[in-house]
Amino acid sequence: MKNFGLDIWGDENFIIQGDTININHASKPSLLSITQEIREKGYKGPLLLRFPHLLEKQISTLFKTFEKAKQEFKYKGNFQAVFPLKVNQFPNFVHALMDVSKNYNYGLEAGSKAEIIIAMTKTPLGAPITVNGFKDKEMISLCFIAAKMGHNITVTIEGLTELETIIQVNKEFNEDAETPISPKIGVRIRLHSSGIGIWAKSGGYGSKFGLTSTELLEAYEMLKEHALLDYLWMIHFHIGSQMGDIAPLKKALREAGNIYADLKKRGADALGAINLGGGLAVEYSQHEDKQERNYSLREFANDVVFLMQDISKRKGVEEPDIFTESGRYIAASHSVLVAPVLELFSQEYTEKGLRLKEVNPPLIQELYDLYNSLSRARAREYLHDALDHMESLLTLFDLGYIDLEDRSNTEILVNLIIKKSIALLKNEDSDELKKLQDRIQEKYLVNFSAFQSLPDFWGLEQHFPIMPLDRLDTKPTNPASIWDITCDSDGEIGFNRDLPLYLHDIDVDTEEYFLAFFLTGAYQEVLGMKHNLFTHPTEAVINFNSEGNYTIDNLIEAQNIMDILDDLDYDTYLMDKTLKYNIEESVHLNSEEKRELLGKLYLYLSENSYLKTIQAIDEER
Ligand code: PLP
Repeated sequence: MKNFGLDIWGDENFIIQGDTININHASKPSLLSITQEIREKGYKGPLLLRFPHLLEKQISTLFKTFEKAKQEFKYKGNFQAVFPLKVNQFPNFVHALMDVSKNYNYGLEAGSKAEIIIAMTKTPLGAPITVNGFKDKEMISLCFIAAKMGHNITVTIEGLTELETIIQVNKEFNEDAETPISPKIGVRIRLHSSGIGIWAKSGGYGSKFGLTSTELLEAYEMLKEHALLDYLWMIHFHIGSQMGDIAPLKKALREAGNIYADLKKRGADALGAINLGGGLAVEYSQHEDKQERNYSLREFANDVVFLMQDISKRKGVEEPDIFTESGRYIAASHSVLVAPVLELFSQEYTEKGLRLKEVNPPLIQELYDLYNSLSRARAREYLHDALDHMESLLTLFDLGYIDLEDRSNTEILVNLIIKKSIALLKNEDSDELKKLQDRIQEKYLVNFSAFQSLPDFWGLEQHFPIMPLDRLDTKPTNPASIWDITCDSDGEIGFNRDLPLYLHDIDVDTEEYFLAFFLTGAYQEVLGMKHNLFTHPTEAVINFNSEGNYTIDNLIEAQNIMDILDDLDYDTYLMDKTLKYNIEESVHLNSEEKRELLGKLYLYLSENSYLKTIQAIDEER
């Protein structure tokens, strides 16, 4: 896997040139050169790099593909899209998103009051805003305020009580108004179809959201009774994120299309849009046989347009506007997390680490001889002998017959024999060798927090593509486990024989080695947890100017230690005073030492809590 599956998950966004992975755009800079430039400015620790050109690519691909499908089928409804803010609300992301989508009348979807405020301030007037999720009176009132400002906003009814509140708020806002203005109304329908996969809970009868057929008919009557039927314009559904299979979507579209047609025929004249929610999947897999998506965007768009047209034709109703709220598809590829490797944990298993004595216990001498005379022809036999000797030597240690040095020599020699045998037998595909590979896997300690930066890996075992930034002209040979720097054994991406990751053998005392985690732009940032108080990493926006060169913009450093504590509502003023007082009053220090210690302490307090990479290399600079 020298290209780390780039052709499967990369979507031509990156390219390997020489020994580095580069951005396949404009001057094609390497991720390594960008990383090094940022690090030279003094920003160590993990870096989150954002690429707005990839957002632009996703948005234009989405719109162009639907336009093409519309033209192909001569579809009369419009295609419109909004970005669901829940997927990424970070300002550097939202600003880049709105900037690159100016030509598409692209809007935002909000699911909470704070998200509505982002949508109200960042969506251009006229571009659509949709509001989903449970709402109270205040949240519905915010939607009315947005409508009165001139926003093209649709509030989705998730239940009948919510509709009652809408009716009440409508009265309060419009009863005495010269020109009554209300948001458009959508209804979320509870489909019997649901998606599949780990995020499929949003669809189906058991889902948290949406109106049943009975409730839908009641809602229709209530809207009619309160003269709000003219505002009912959207049918909404969402069958779950990361829809790997297209089949459930087709079922859901038929169901939703027929509900749309039925309501329209019943008298909902203003009804004119079907909103499919999100769900468009992203290919995260690095392995040919483990792909996560069985359809292309083209197939997705064609299916949606065809089915909506078919149902409209058969039922004799207008073809509806098609709305999507794709989030993952738009945002995932735009960011890359780059993190330095701090240490390799089995580096001590080298010949250099052996402490052989003038006279060794016979079994250790034998292990040493096995290691030196290992050949392809006898590799398997010697391997079995070595494993057998190890068992005996560990028993001898337990019984007190050999000492700690002998035990260490045993561990090193057996490890070296396994490594050498696997290399000699690399063309054999036996289960035994695979199991042994697990045993000699290298543990890479990486300067990041999986809880903060890959929460979906931690919570749902969602795989994210991982690869090093350089050495890509050399075959990596170490089966790799990745350890993050939290004090939690869950912060590990273990070596997985079904999804094996191999990394290079490096000497961290003399070389830098960075890992990149791709497709982290959707959900990960805001779901990230401050476990161990590791916060959002330092981030930067990488833009390309008209000459094709990149600029590093909007650098935001990870929070410093005192700000993190402040966020937790510690009285940092008091903490600061306590620390200072304890140094100043210390009876063990003279005044020069106190000054020096205070200087150091304040320097540390002003920095973020990620580690500062490899000491030896840092000191050389
Ligand atoms: N719309 C709604 C109502 C959702 O609940 C979600 C996600 O759960 C989305 C859109 C975005 O889905 P995705 O990121 O899979 O496109």
